[in-house]
Amino acid sequence: MNTKALLYKLYNENNLNFDETLELLNDLDTNLKLRNELFACSLETKEKYYQKDVYMRGLIEFSNYCKQNCLYCGIQRSNKNVKRYRLNRNDILNCCKEGYELGFRTFVLQGGEDSYYTDEILIDIIKSIKNDFKDCAITLSIGEKSYDSYLKYFNAGASRFLLRHETADSDLYNYFHPEMDLENRKQCLFDLKKIGYQVGAGFMVGLKGQTNSHLAKDLIFLKELSPHMVGIGPYLSHKDTILKDCKNGDLNKTLIMLALTRLFLPKVLLPSTTALGTLDNTGREKALKIGCNVVMPNLSPTSLRKDYSLYDNKICTGDEAAHCRKCIQRRIENSGFKINMGKGDHIDFK
Ligand code: SAH
Repeated sequence: MNTKALLYKLYNENNLNFDETLELLNDLDTNLKLRNELFACSLETKEKYYQKDVYMRGLIEFSNYCKQNCLYCGIQRSNKNVKRYRLNRNDILNCCKEGYELGFRTFVLQGGEDSYYTDEILIDIIKSIKNDFKDCAITLSIGEKSYDSYLKYFNAGASRFLLRHETADSDLYNYFHPEMDLENRKQCLFDLKKIGYQVGAGFMVGLKGQTNSHLAKDLIFLKELSPHMVGIGPYLSHKDTILKDCKNGDLNKTLIMLALTRLFLPKVLLPSTTALGTLDNTGREKALKIGCNVVMPNLSPTSLRKDYSLYDNKICTGDEAAHCRKCIQRRIENSGFKINMGKGDHIDFK
């Protein structure tokens, strides 16, 4: 089959096998006409299910302590240059309050894997947020835990969980995560789904050594997992990591992966990530125009944002939440889309 036929097969059937995916990816690297057709298909698919809506999530980066040592990440355990911080329950509730007043109805609690937050502490935080902000959804993004812990957080009121698989190739995964195990991470994702969370997986684009064959594996894994959300962003270097001299991921390649993900999982919630906005001034707008439908402005205290530094040059670190809220609204509307401040569940959860 030629690659155009493969694209339309994907558009119509929302699936391709590994060889077909790889062939399409290889051609998309240079075939600009095909790339533009892909982008038209992915935007149309997004609008079929979610129209012009773009959902807003308030991101609270509540701890930059981490017990893991992911090679690319600026807050990895072994980075001694990080000024570490933790937010307590009251700090987090204050972020939620500010967000609530700005209209946010989803709070994403993200952090390093910080053992200070025992299940008991986390459950208390989750219940307190649910109690104070009854009409809001809580998303957790706190890494790998046991089935039992995930279940407890769910029962306390967390209903969504973001855990990028990072890369679905085990050799690449092992290189970047020498102390971790891809099978365990995948198991976490299946556990989260089984419990009933709306689940987000995802990966980085442009990791050192990453090929189209690796990226095809990511798409095939996503299809198998069928998550409700997928976070995809370019790899960006961080000055304190051993990968500091590796070049950043490519904008167009990231857009291609986002658009393909939209076609494999037509109803997926697909964030236009901060990393894309960091790589390119209008990267987030570009992503919205090819089928992304979520943005996650920052609600973390401004004084701490620079310390949650996964990569260099992170945007919006000095801006108040209200400023971010307005700025992102303007960007969304100028791109021809409509901000949706609702909880923004996946279409199958409505
Ligand atoms: N500890 C949580 C949250 C991780 S931070 C967890 O394990 O899920 C959220 C995401 O940031 C990561 O999943 C990773 O994909 C991304 N990230 C980390 N370092 C990055 C870098 N240098 N460039 C781009 N993205 C990065």
